Amino acid sequence: MFQLNLRRRGISDQAVLRAMEEVPREIFVEPADRADAYRDSALGIACGQTISQPFVVAYMTEQLQLQMPHRVLEIGTGSGYQAAILSRLCSQVLTIERYRTLAEIARARLAKLGYDNIEVILGDGYDIPAAAGTFDRIIVTAAMEQIPEALLERLKPGGILIAPVGPHHGTQTLVRVTRTDAGFDRRELVDVRFVPALPGIAREL
Ligand code: SAH
Repeated sequence: MFQLNLRRRGISDQAVLRAMEEVPREIFVEPADRADAYRDSALGIACGQTISQPFVVAYMTEQLQLQMPHRVLEIGTGSGYQAAILSRLCSQVLTIERYRTLAEIARARLAKLGYDNIEVILGDGYDIPAAAGTFDRIIVTAAMEQIPEALLERLKPGGILIAPVGPHHGTQTLVRVTRTDAGFDRRELVDVRFVPALPGIAREL
């Protein structure tokens, strides 16, 4: 049913559909939401954040056109679900989260599932350590008012970035940027709703 619904909504990449089938989404949602894990909706997680709806995860992943050798950066680890999906389709995932609690839960969860090509770090996606280097693909899973120039500079030639761009509270547009020889090629895809990307590491209570 899960795969069928994704297909019906237009996801056609077999590898993406397989990854969506393979990763146990019920492990990434709150225990009380287990029964709803495969419904096509976003669900609440710790720290007032959300795990994105399956269609959006599959759609963004498909738009990234991942290949096995790729090294991928994700901004906004949240539950770790999107990182888990990415990890089935490329060689290495670096994912950054500004809440320590979420980073620690996701790290432990992903390790337990044996997804050993994912590194979870506590940090700020607006201020990525220089040592992290450059990436074939970058996926932002929190809403940015604009895409920082410094983030685009982290794309390798031919690289693709996908991010929800727009006002923090309201509707954003999923934007796909491809780094070409001539510069950056920008395309607007669909409307989405994400929690905001906020600067700095979160001060937790
Ligand atoms: N990809 C996640 C869902 C992300 S929700 C999943 O699959 O579950 C967005 C996440 O981005 C939240 O956890 C939020 O804390 C985080 N976030 C927001 N701004 C950030 C920033 N500047 N750097 C890193 N993470 C950020």
